Amino acid sequence: FSVRCSPFRGRTDHNIGTITVLHDITAVKKMDQMKSDFVSMVSHEIRSPINSLLMQLKIILDGLAGETTPKQREILERATDKMLNLNNLVTELLDLSRIESGLVAHEKELVDIAGLLSEQKIFHTPYAQKKQMEIELTIENNLPKILANPRHMDEVLSNLITNAIKYSPEGGSIRISAGVKSECLSIEVADSGFGIPEEDLDKIFSRFYRVKDSNTRTIHGTGLGLAIVKSIIDSLHGSITVKSAPGEGTEFSILLPYNVH
Ligand code: ADP
Repeated sequence: FSVRCSPFRGRTDHNIGTITVLHDITAVKKMDQMKSDFVSMVSHEIRSPINSLLMQLKIILDGLAGETTPKQREILERATDKMLNLNNLVTELLDLSRIESGLVAHEKELVDIAGLLSEQKIFHTPYAQKKQMEIELTIENNLPKILANPRHMDEVLSNLITNAIKYSPEGGSIRISAGVKSECLSIEVADSGFGIPEEDLDKIFSRFYRVKDSNTRTIHGTGLGLAIVKSIIDSLHGSITVKSAPGEGTEFSILLPYNVH
């Protein structure tokens, strides 16, 4: 059941009672479960032929099936790229359906965000350097640990940092910070990149939504990264907000209550 309570006011605007509405959402929950089972099943069924195709392409590209001409290699390399994109899409869909179904909610432990952020910085620095970008990391002392799935927290941080690099021109900078704000762990990822138009800001967390902008049109993506980030943060009772202006950069801010168990 979903429960909604609201005050019932009399003529003089005094509270004279409470209206409680109980809504039977069994059918909605069943539908959600069916949807998520279906996505899991389809994703698994698609993943194995993709992996088999990737393996066969690799055998030819490694020269184990005889000589290939430069033109043939170029075509096979392009096919491999497309397959990897498809594999990425299926992996993200599967992740999203697992998180939304709550199947992984119990896989939690106390996570040291400072450690994860330092590892993420080391991992992403070579990609940033390819675009002459710098990653600046500031972590407050004695950051509290939070109860979460460490793989999910890695996914959140990695998606935000990857986007900050991906949606910035060469020579930009990324500022990552973590601290404590009003009883919550606060994480911010800010870039000096292309920015997001105001009319798109409330849509970027929806599945498959991508900004149609001349700067970012040619950048590859699935439009699922931020939907995954949002559902992970929601599952931890946290919040994520974004501030951005075209040409000036983007800042994502996460607040995670650390006393929720
Ligand atoms: P993807 O990057 O795969 O397209 P996401 O869900 O991660 O999907 O992001 C959705 C959209 O939000 C992106 O397509 C991009 O238009 C926009 N976006 C996300 N992060 C940034 C950022 N740091 N700077 C500018 N635009 C961004």
